[in-house]
Amino acid sequence: MSEIGLGIIGGGQLGSMLAAAAKKIKIKTVIFSDDNDAPAQNFCDEFIYATYNNKEKIIEFANKVDFITFEFENIPYETLKQMNELKPVLPKPSVNRIIQHRLAEKDFINNLNIRTTRYVAVEKQSDFELLIDFLPGMLKTTTLGYDGKGQHLIKSVDELNSLNLDFSRGYILEKLVKLKKEISIIITRFSKNNYEIYEPIENIHEDQILKYSKIPAEISNKIFNQSKEWAITIAEELKYIGTMCVEFFIDRNENLYVNEVAPRVHNSGHLTINAYNVSQFENHIRAVCGLDKIPIKKLSNAKMINLIGSQILPYRKEIKLDKNQFLFDYLKKEVKQKRKMGHLTTLV
Ligand code: ADP
Ligand code: MG
Repeated sequence: MSEIGLGIIGGGQLGSMLAAAAKKIKIKTVIFSDDNDAPAQNFCDEFIYATYNNKEKIIEFANKVDFITFEFENIPYETLKQMNELKPVLPKPSVNRIIQHRLAEKDFINNLNIRTTRYVAVEKQSDFELLIDFLPGMLKTTTLGYDGKGQHLIKSVDELNSLNLDFSRGYILEKLVKLKKEISIIITRFSKNNYEIYEPIENIHEDQILKYSKIPAEISNKIFNQSKEWAITIAEELKYIGTMCVEFFIDRNENLYVNEVAPRVHNSGHLTINAYNVSQFENHIRAVCGLDKIPIKKLSNAKMINLIGSQILPYRKEIKLDKNQFLFDYLKKEVKQKRKMGHLTTLV
C-alpha cells in the first residue's frame, strides 16, 4: 500500500469504479456515503456511513485521507466547504457550486461564448405566457436532477399550468433541440494547460437515461474539433482538477451545443476502462492525488450498453461473455426499474 489515502464522497457505481481504479495503483480509499447499502463498500478499503451534515463523521473521514473527491455533484456545498478546510477537496467546491445549478452552469458556459440551448428561469405561475418562445421545451429542476429525473417535455402553456409546480424549488425551461446526435467529451485536467482528453463518445439515450455509448463517434471533423476545444476551454476556465465530462447536443443543422457539464467521472466514459491504457477513473485519481500524468492511448474501438433494471439478471445467470466483452455488475442490493445496475463493454 502506498501512503496516499483518497476520500470519496458517494457510494454508487462511480464510487465503486473509482475505488477499483485506486486499488490498481495502490491508493487507499475511504468512502463516505449516506446510504448504508452503498454498493461501493464492496470496492473500497474503508466505508463511513453518515449523513452529509454529520460534522463528527466529516472530521473522522478527513483525518483518514490526504485528498477528497466526489462521485456525484449534488453534495451540499457546506459539506464540501467543511471538508475542504480539513483536506483538499478536488475539484474545488466552487466548481461544484456553479455546476450543480443548471442556471448558473448555463450562464457560465454562455459567458465563454459557447453555445447552449436557449433557456429561461421559471419562477412563478404568472410568467407562463412569456415562455411561449421556449416551447416545445424541457422543464427541469435547477438542482438535484439526474438520469432525466425532475424533467418534463412541455409542448404548451396549458401543459405547464397543469403541472402544479412546487415553486419552493427552482425550474429552468430549455428549448427542445431537434437532436441529430449526442456526444460527450471526457477530459482530465492536471494543471494549467496540462490535461488528457479522450476522443468524442457518441451516446444514445432512452427515456432521458444513457443507454449506449461508442467510440469512434460518427461525427464531422468540425464537430470533433469544436467539441474538444470547448471542453478544454471549460476545464481551463474552471481551473478544474480531475476528470470531468461535457455532454453535447448536435442538431439537424450540424450545430453543436453544450448540454451540461458533469464535474466528475461519467457514465459515457466507462468504456475507457477497457478501450484505453488509462481509464477516466485512474486519470481522475492521478490528477486529484497529484500523481504523474501518463499519456493516454486508445487500445481499441468500443461500445458500451447500460444494463438498466432487470436487464442485469440474464447476465448474472445464463449469458456467457465473449473474450472481447467485459461485464460490470454494480452489485446494487435491489433491482429497480430505471436504475443503472451494470454495464457491458465490447471492444470492437
Ligand atoms: P440529466 O442531468 O438527467 O442527465 P440532461 O439535461 O442531460 O439531464 O437531460 C437528459 C437527456 O434528455 C439528454 O441527454 C437528452 O437526450 C434529453 N434532453 C434534455 N434536454 C434536452 C433539450 N433541451 N433538447 C433535447 N433533448 C434534451
Ligand atoms: Mg445529462
